[in-house]
Amino acid sequence: MTVGEQIRRIGFRRWYERQLIESHAYLVTAFLALIVLLAGIEGLSLVRRSPLFYAGLTVVAAAAGVLTYVAWRRFSVLLARAERFAGAASCPRCGAWGEFEVLAEERSDAHDPPEAGRPHWLRVRCRGCGCDWRIG
Ligand SMILES: [Zn+2]
Repeated sequence: MTVGEQIRRIGFRRWYERQLIESHAYLVTAFLALIVLLAGIEGLSLVRRSPLFYAGLTVVAAAAGVLTYVAWRRFSVLLARAERFAGAASCPRCGAWGEFEVLAEERSDAHDPPEAGRPHWLRVRCRGCGCDWRIG
């Protein structure tokens, strides 16, 4: 489901709220994965362990490093897009915030990863006065 379809279904205010929750869940994930990464690096300094222990610890630390990076990217991209859309969600004519219907959006694919940040713009129409403008 695209961002435009999500906003059409649940409304902009609820979509914005969910974006904040989702992006901060990624932030918590990145923080926890960073702790695992650092613990793995610390564990490499343990002496007299088997080579299998060090190999396993290296794999776990590397996986945690990748997860930290991906979760951080998703956090920053989702939060930036939500804030960019929220900053432009006021109707230029009547000033109503978040009270619009989505007319069009940047083309995106269902297989786009969240960190791609698509769509970068929306074309919307105010429910109150009928004014249309572009967000993003
Ligand atoms: Zn309006």
